[in-house]
Amino acid sequence: MEQDRSSQSRPPHVLVFPLPLQGHINSMIKLAELLAIAGFKLTFLNSHHNHERLVKFNNIAAHSERYPGFQFKTITDGLPLNHPRSGSWFLDMFEDTMELKMKESLREVLVNSSPPVDCIIGDGFLGFALDVAKELGIPIIFFRTSSPCCFWVYHSIPDIIQAGELPINGSEDMDRLITTVPGMETYLRCRDLPTFCRKLDIEDSSMKLVVKQTRKSLQADALILNTAEELDGPILSQIRTKCPRVYAVGPLHAQLNTRLNAKHGESYDHFSNTLWEVDKSCIFWLNKQPNRSVIYVSFGSITSTSREQLVELWYGLLNSKTKFLLVVRPNSVIGKDGEGEDVVMELMEKSKDRGYIVNWAPQEAVLNHPAIGGFFTHNGWNSTLESIVAGVPMICWPQFADQHVNSRVVSEVWKIGLDMKDVCDSKIVEKMVNDVMVDRKEEFAKSASEMAKEDKEEIKMV
Ligand code: UDP
Repeated sequence: MEQDRSSQSRPPHVLVFPLPLQGHINSMIKLAELLAIAGFKLTFLNSHHNHERLVKFNNIAAHSERYPGFQFKTITDGLPLNHPRSGSWFLDMFEDTMELKMKESLREVLVNSSPPVDCIIGDGFLGFALDVAKELGIPIIFFRTSSPCCFWVYHSIPDIIQAGELPINGSEDMDRLITTVPGMETYLRCRDLPTFCRKLDIEDSSMKLVVKQTRKSLQADALILNTAEELDGPILSQIRTKCPRVYAVGPLHAQLNTRLNAKHGESYDHFSNTLWEVDKSCIFWLNKQPNRSVIYVSFGSITSTSREQLVELWYGLLNSKTKFLLVVRPNSVIGKDGEGEDVVMELMEKSKDRGYIVNWAPQEAVLNHPAIGGFFTHNGWNSTLESIVAGVPMICWPQFADQHVNSRVVSEVWKIGLDMKDVCDSKIVEKMVNDVMVDRKEEFAKSASEMAKEDKEEIKMV
């Protein structure tokens, strides 16, 4: 079954295969663009559902013109097109519904590919890609799009259980230190572990799935991570004790921007690869605000909030007297009978002079806007990296996946933000916004801009 990849006179053909989620697509397309700039032939394998949205909200024709060797192919994600794909759909559906169908489709694409695929860069969560690659004799590199710190915690879960530090018992002090994750002994607490670790059941299916995929990531020919040595050096050294071929290739959005700016100039219109319609009107609003006076509030592409949580956040923002730009994705507020959508309209009306609300923002442009002084974030890894590179301090309100670990590292290791995990109280929101935007503004601005500077130095050197 092995295809002939010998004596090539053509550029190597790389197939990039992301998990069908916005955050994963974002960083994997950026990696694919960088490889296309370097002269590789690229196939980006998207799900039908996400590709439809990518085509709808981005100028894909211009993308193809810019990168002639870059093609998109689509396969099923295993779900009907009209499935809402919201809430915790992914972990719930992955093993039973999605994995088998995606595996078959991947195999078919690889077998029929012309020119043949020379290397797969698979999302490290799609462990089945390794089985297909081995069967067809194609080298495979796994790309984990979440943070290295969290990758390391996921990998260590069996050891934490073995040491008796998990499960967390019901009445536990959540500030208890977890001592069995090498390199994190001094700062990782129970409450910083991924949320599925809070379940009393150590046989929990989400936990088992994540551990399985993480351990499998290390069996690939190499592992790449979206970070820089400067940021995550100590944890990368720990991961390398399990897999020597670990490459830190990020932050990818900054790597790509640097190369595109060098080639085309600063004003170059970059693609956002977005799956929602971007509301650029917020940039005009930001243009009218003083420097570092606005806090940007956004919780990524998957997180939902309850109506009560949104109202609590909104009161905290309003009472802080700081102006805010708030992203509320369509259908992301959970309330009875359309109450979620009503509350957004109501808040919009009531905070016209203090805030601006959009469905989806051009986030990188927003974070790099001079009017932005802080980012109230859920700490998805892309958002965290985008904030670091822009030199914007954070208020962290993590919800799931790698976010709980990320917020701990942001606040305790890098000291470029405050961690609000596990609470949603308007008084605390107000206090934290005031700390970051007013009372401790210079302290946070200094640490965030130093970190951004170190990062830029490393990007120049790559
Ligand atoms: N994003 C955006 N506009 C928004 C909100 C988010 O462009 O209004 C982008 C953001 O720049 C980031 C991605 O969506 O690249 C979200 O990825 P992240 O890893 O931060 O979180 P996830 O969505 O996976 O939870």
